[in-house]
Amino acid sequence: MTFFEELNQIIPKKQISKNQTLLEQHSRDESYHQPCLPEAVVFPASTAEVSEIMKLAARHQMPVVPFGYGSSLEGNIIPYSGGISLDFSLMNNIITLRENDFLVTVQPGVTRSQLNKELKKYGMFFSVDPGADATLGGDGGNQCQWDLSSQIWYHARSGP
Ligand SMILES: Cc1cc2nc3c(=O)[nH]c(=O)nc-3n(C[C@H](O)[C@H](O)[C@H](O)COP(=O)(O)OP(=O)(O)OC[C@H]3O[C@@H](n4cnc5c(N)ncnc54)[C@H](O)[C@@H]3O)c2cc1C
Repeated sequence: MTFFEELNQIIPKKQISKNQTLLEQHSRDESYHQPCLPEAVVFPASTAEVSEIMKLAARHQMPVVPFGYGSSLEGNIIPYSGGISLDFSLMNNIITLRENDFLVTVQPGVTRSQLNKELKKYGMFFSVDPGADATLGGDGGNQCQWDLSSQIWYHARSGP
């Protein structure tokens, strides 16, 4: 069986797209680098699905590029070796929020504004703004402001 035939067996078909507009959206970031289309865009909905997709991709030597919001500045998400773009937008749950510990556990597709909407209920905010409404998975993947983010996080509580 081909990679895509097997993929159809491990995740629902609606989570796999070869729609031209979607392929183009996942072929470039905010940089000047030449776009390059992935073969498909795949939307995992859980950690278990990510794990199965990655095992399958490894077996078929299918390149995989994770995709958050596509706002990185260095061509990071452009799939120059082909393969699939793994879009984390369905994995956008805030799993735990322990306000007294200043600790939040999120899925990688959670965006900064989404997190801030939740934190506002506790008088807190996450101040790092990478210019776009980027995902926390993308921020971490870029390691762009992760250390800074952690430090700011500890100082983010405000008000009474
Ligand atoms: C002051 C400042 C400095 C910045 N410096 C940089 C910089 O040096 N370089 C740069 O590229 N951008 C930089 N940015 C832009 C910023 O980093 C991006 O806009 C943002 O971090 C990317 O988030 P995203 O959700 O759009 O991720 P994407 O652009 O979609 O992805 C970013 C990277 O993370 C990977 N990724 C995405 N999701 C996951 C995941 N779930 N698991 C593992 N990897 C994942 C992607 O493959 C890609 O390599 C900067 C912004 C500001 C304001």
